[in-house]
Amino acid sequence: MKDKERFADMIRKSQRIVAFTGAGISTESGIPDFRSAGGLFDRLSGRHFSGEETLSIGFLEAYPALFFRNYAEHFDFSQALPNAGHRFFAGLEKTGKEVTVVTQNIDNLHQSAGSSTIIELHGNGTRWRTFDTDEPADATAINMDAQGIQRDSQGRMVRSDIVLYGEMLDEEAMERAAAAIGAADMLVVIGTSLAVYPAASIVHYFKGHYAVLLNRTPVPQSLTFQLAVQTDAGAFLADVWEEYFAK
Ligand code: NAD
Repeated sequence: MKDKERFADMIRKSQRIVAFTGAGISTESGIPDFRSAGGLFDRLSGRHFSGEETLSIGFLEAYPALFFRNYAEHFDFSQALPNAGHRFFAGLEKTGKEVTVVTQNIDNLHQSAGSSTIIELHGNGTRWRTFDTDEPADATAINMDAQGIQRDSQGRMVRSDIVLYGEMLDEEAMERAAAAIGAADMLVVIGTSLAVYPAASIVHYFKGHYAVLLNRTPVPQSLTFQLAVQTDAGAFLADVWEEYFAK
């Protein structure tokens, strides 16, 4: 059986399906990932700081204006649209499968595609909150002041509602993700280098039948995948949808 047919067959035989996605599922929507050549880490790295450092809570605290300038330049995803990879899992729900998307992404594209059960491990870049008090802030009323600091309408410094390097993940989201993966028949890991911990570790909760990896480049495989395809996920999933599920 060819890869696409095997993948479709595994889906047909599974009821509870978890998609665990990383930045790679959104590159075909025009959003660079972190670690590929030319990705965001290359663009953010300077003479003094690594890409990872510029996206840390310590950097935001020490150099807020620089942080916000980088963020405005590289993390405005408002024009990006979901691609066939995001749409695949929203479509699968409509066929009667129980689909949970566990995502490391902050671009809101699974939401835009229409998936109904999404667990965000690293927050969501379209949401903002006050820096000191963690109150939700109206994203449409945020402005940059003369010093380059993002502020809400009351003048309070705000930050996007994402998990920066050096910050803890939301425990409840991790627990929900681990439970969904632990209860799934099929796990589809897509577009992630599986390098960002602790998020990457939750794939080990999987004890179902079919684990599949769809990634453009080889990934150190600490989990045994029944099917590992080196591919562009959006293009692969578009073909699978057309050939086996679109009716
Ligand atoms: P990563 O950059 O470490 O790895 C991305 C992986 O996806 C790479 O292995 C790459 O080969 C693969 N890839 C790229 N395009 C692909 C495609 N079209 N199809 C299949 N595979 C593809 O990303 P990560 O593991 O997600 O970790 C980086 C962290 O930064 C995560 O928290 C991530 O969510 C966040 N991030 C998010 C966005 C976003 O929200 N779109 C963008 C950049 C980084």
